[in-house]
Amino acid sequence: MSPIDYSRRVFCGQLTSADTGREVLLAGWVDAFRDHGGLLFIHLRDRSGIVQVVFSPEIGSTAVCQQAASLRAEYCIAVSGEVKPRLPGTENDHISTGTIEVMVKELAVLSESDALPFPISEKAMVAGAPSASLDHVTEDLRLQHRYLDLRRPSMRDHLIARHRIFQCARQFLDSRGFVEIETPMLTMSTPEGARDYLVPSRVHPGKFYALPQSPQLFKQLLMIGGMERYFQLARCFRDEDLRPNRQPEFTQIDIEASFIDEEFIYEMIEELAVRMFAVGGIELPRPFPRMTYAEAMDTTGSDRPDLRFGMRFVDVTDLFSQTQYSIFRQILQRGGRIKGINVQGQSDRLSKNVLQNEYAKEIVPSFGAKGMTWMRAEKGQLASNVVQFFSRGEQEALRARFGVADGDVLILIADPSHAVVTSALGQLRLHLANRLGLIPAGRFCPVWVTEFPLFEATEEGGVTSSHHPFTAPDRTDFDPRNVEELLALRSRAYDLVVNGEELGGGSIRINRRDLQRKIFDALGLSEEETMNRFGFFLRAFDFGAPPHGGLALGMDRTVSMILQTPSIREVIAFPKNRSAGCPLTGAPSTVKREQLAELGLLNLGGTDKLAGADTAENRVDHLSWVSRIGIAAGERAMMEEVLDQAEALASIATENAGKEEPIWGVVPVANRTRPGTRAQRSPLAETGQLLKSAPAVKGSYFKVASILE
Ligand code: ASP
Repeated sequence: MSPIDYSRRVFCGQLTSADTGREVLLAGWVDAFRDHGGLLFIHLRDRSGIVQVVFSPEIGSTAVCQQAASLRAEYCIAVSGEVKPRLPGTENDHISTGTIEVMVKELAVLSESDALPFPISEKAMVAGAPSASLDHVTEDLRLQHRYLDLRRPSMRDHLIARHRIFQCARQFLDSRGFVEIETPMLTMSTPEGARDYLVPSRVHPGKFYALPQSPQLFKQLLMIGGMERYFQLARCFRDEDLRPNRQPEFTQIDIEASFIDEEFIYEMIEELAVRMFAVGGIELPRPFPRMTYAEAMDTTGSDRPDLRFGMRFVDVTDLFSQTQYSIFRQILQRGGRIKGINVQGQSDRLSKNVLQNEYAKEIVPSFGAKGMTWMRAEKGQLASNVVQFFSRGEQEALRARFGVADGDVLILIADPSHAVVTSALGQLRLHLANRLGLIPAGRFCPVWVTEFPLFEATEEGGVTSSHHPFTAPDRTDFDPRNVEELLALRSRAYDLVVNGEELGGGSIRINRRDLQRKIFDALGLSEEETMNRFGFFLRAFDFGAPPHGGLALGMDRTVSMILQTPSIREVIAFPKNRSAGCPLTGAPSTVKREQLAELGLLNLGGTDKLAGADTAENRVDHLSWVSRIGIAAGERAMMEEVLDQAEALASIATENAGKEEPIWGVVPVANRTRPGTRAQRSPLAETGQLLKSAPAVKGSYFKVASILE
């Protein structure tokens, strides 16, 4: 092929019948090929799409046709030729260019490809024919070759859609006067409830930056700095325990504004969400309903209520106040609650056997409740294994309260703890909805959850922030030492939940130093601790901090929901896998000693022991760990004795240091640890039995971990 003039290049996916007769230069990858004895068809793919190119001896030279015969999947090539309509009957309506093809005159192989670890092509060359599937490909293999995975049109589409959603958000926020500002990545710890990723400083040996869990403190400082409206597509880092659909690093649209209240946030974020979802063709219903935290917990058992389907909880505690049914009576005597759901019209699919043996015996206990009570409505009656214990009145009252019709199934959970009732019933509600297919596809139900408790109780009898400590309380006249009062406080926080997933959350913030101090007091942070951690931040409050508030939306999750992908990893170019590792680069990886030394990390912490380590660490365990040799329970007493003798010997050696002649040899052999016992070689050593379980043996030695070298 003559030198390629890329300025003439046109995009495969943009060709149409209107280009018929045009000479075009195309460049991309061989998506698929089909040899028709002399005629060779290729699907050529670039970022814009796919077009069929044809090598025919009537059009291209013999050399071109021969070269074409050697093309394989994912070769990177350029071709030039003429656009022609396809013959009737050979059109492919699965690709946008399916009515035309390009008759190739020239071909250049720009780069060859090895055989592929998994198929990339997603479009069959013949309309209707099946295309290769990734069903048997592990996600780690895809991530290891992510650059190939990204060539798959569906992955490409995800990333382009993500870009469009981000652009939409940027433009909208810009139009509302928000300014995009970057905040530091190397920073101080910000409390968001997770562990920090730490970055050691070479310039300040022994000191660390933290990667931001969120730009929370900086965005508030920007408000104090007078920026009034800020946003950022912020990368955040949280070292959390692994959970599905979490990534150690993730992207948030982080927003903060001054001189605003909750209504400003609700209106603006609704508009933003509606626009972003519209990019994916989804129309969110407006206005978004609002639910207090208490209401969400009471009726769905979750602070992330999924409102796509019914089965809201109904409290029936009062209906059983005089009950003869002993299980309920005992629970009510202990101050318990009884709540239930009506699974309408599902009795055909929830047999006695399923209700009793699966749900009552297995599934509900796994949700933390002792059991459940079920009743099926048949022929105007409630039927179950316990209904005979309920009075007529109780049965009538149940039917009325749940609005029962034949074919419904009532499920009740009773427990002395209200929290157990709501939590178990909430999990059961989701389980049944999924199992019975009660969640309508393509439905999106946003809801604002408001009035969260400001604090949660800790196991130590104190409190911790439910959101973060900068969230404004609903009132300020509380006593920071009165735990009961603290636990009754509500916060001015709000979460945006869609289909049972939290897309984001935020709050109106505290903007007065005395109130912030009071919150830290409540959290049990001393003045000194507060100043050490947040002194710089609190100081800013001394200079006219404006009222402000904001929110952050998790963008990986939002994009994944808009594109309806099975996991957030499908919308991230280079995600970590489920074990927080990167199969492509191998991160996280070990580093060289020199690097650690340069960072001052080798002797970090000196010989200081962590609090509690002394009691936790037994010297036998320590020795066992250092030597990587397991010690059986029966050997421990003997090991303790040997260690005592060794210590005694060491102290004799220390006392006598310098007084005695140094020993140059070890002959004759003496048993120093067991005086009076003659040293002898174990017969097991002779037979090789001794080293039988050693991890690696060389001659009559076994290898030890390098830590001892
Ligand atoms: N910083 C909070 C978070 O990341 C969001 C906010 O309060 O604006 O969850």
